[in-house]
Amino acid sequence: MMKKQLKITVLPGDGIGPEVTREAVRALRIAGEYAGLSFEFQEHAIGGRAVEQFGTPLPRATLDACLASDAVLLGAVGGPQWDARPRAQKPETGLLQLRAALGGFANLRPAVCLPALAECSPLRKEIVAGADVMVVRELLGGLYFGEPRGFSSDSTESWNTMRYRADEIERIAAVAFQIARTRRRKVTSVDKANVLEVSQFWRQIVQRVARDYPDVKLDHVYVDACAMHLVTNPTRFDVILTENLFGDVLSDEAAALTGSLGMLPSATVGGQVNMYEPIHGSAPDIAGRDIANPLGAIASAAMLLRHTAGLPDAAAKVENAIRAVLEEGHRTADLAAGRSRRCIGTREMGELVANAISDTYERQFAYHAV
Ligand code: NAD
Repeated sequence: MMKKQLKITVLPGDGIGPEVTREAVRALRIAGEYAGLSFEFQEHAIGGRAVEQFGTPLPRATLDACLASDAVLLGAVGGPQWDARPRAQKPETGLLQLRAALGGFANLRPAVCLPALAECSPLRKEIVAGADVMVVRELLGGLYFGEPRGFSSDSTESWNTMRYRADEIERIAAVAFQIARTRRRKVTSVDKANVLEVSQFWRQIVQRVARDYPDVKLDHVYVDACAMHLVTNPTRFDVILTENLFGDVLSDEAAALTGSLGMLPSATVGGQVNMYEPIHGSAPDIAGRDIANPLGAIASAAMLLRHTAGLPDAAAKVENAIRAVLEEGHRTADLAAGRSRRCIGTREMGELVANAISDTYERQFAYHAV
C-alpha cells in the first residue's frame, strides 16, 4: 500500500553536497505534488560541518532522525580541511557509521550512457551507445567484513577473508532478480569460480535463487572477463550481480564509461532505512560556485521514488526530464566536453529539470482530459 506522506532526512554534507541536494529536493517536491505524495524534509548535519558544529561527523540527533525516517537523501562529505583529523573525527567515518547503522546490504549503481552525452565517454560512441547497466553490489559481507583479518604479530604476514553465508547471497540475488524484472530481465552474476571456493558457493546459491525467477535470464561471468566486457561490449549487460569487492571495482568502471561522475546516482537498500546519494564526492575544488552538476543527486531522488515511495512512474518521469533537458543541449561545465557552449549553473539545471517534470505531468493530464 503506497504511503501518502514520506519523512525524508536530508543530509547535505560538505562541499557541493548542499548545492546538489537542494536541487534533488526541488525535483522530489514537484514530482510528489503531481503524484499525490507529500514529503516532510528534515535537514541534519553530517561530515565536516557536523565536526565543526558538534565535534563528531555523525551527531546522535542526525542518526536518530535517519533511523526514524522513510529514507535518507545524502549529498557528500569530506574536504581537505578535515583530512588531518583523527579517525573518529573524519567526515568519512560518519558516513561509514551511518551506512552500518542503516544496515543496507544492497548497493544499486545504475550507469546509463545517455545518447546526448555519448561524446563525454572515454569510449567510442558506437561501443557505449545504448549501454544501460545496473550494478547490484553486496555491501555487508565478503572480503571487507570477513573474519579472520589482520596482521601477524611479527609483521611478516597479513590476511583478509572472503566469506559468505548462503542467506547473504540469497537476499542480494533476490534483489538483483527483482530489479531485472523491472528492466530487460537479464542477470549476469560475476564471480571467480574457476579459482575461489567462495565463488563456487556464490554461483550455486544464485542458481538456486534463479529458479524462483524463470522469466529472468541468468548467466555467469568471471570478474576479469566482466571487467573486459564492460569496456568492449557494455551493451551485453542488464543487471550485474556481484559480491562486495568485485562490485566496488566494477561499479566504478561502469560509472567511468558514462564519462560523467556528476550524473550518477546510487541507492543502498535492504536495511532499516534506504539511503540515496550521488556517487561523486564533495568536490571541494568547485564548491560554492554554482557550477556543480546536480543531475546525479536528482537521479538519486528518482531512485527514492522508485525504491522507497513505490512510484516507478514518477521515477521514470524524473529520469526522462533529465534526458529531455540534456537533449535540449543544456550542460553544466563538467558535461561541456571541451566544446565551446554556454554552460549553466547548478541552480539553473535544477530549475530546468523541475520544469521538465511538471511539463511531462501537465502533458499527461492534458492528454487524459481530451
Ligand atoms: P570528487 O567526486 O569529490 O571529485 C572528483 C572530481 O570530479 C573533481 O574534479 C570534482 O570537481 C568533479 N566532480 C565531482 N562531482 C561533480 C559534480 N556533481 N559536478 C561537477 N563536477 C564534479 O572526489 P575527490 O576529489 O576524490 O574527493 C573530494 C572529497 O570528497 C574527499 O574529501 C573525499 O573523501 C570525499 N568523497 C566523499 C564521498 C561521499 O560522500 N560519498 C565519495 C567520494 C569522495
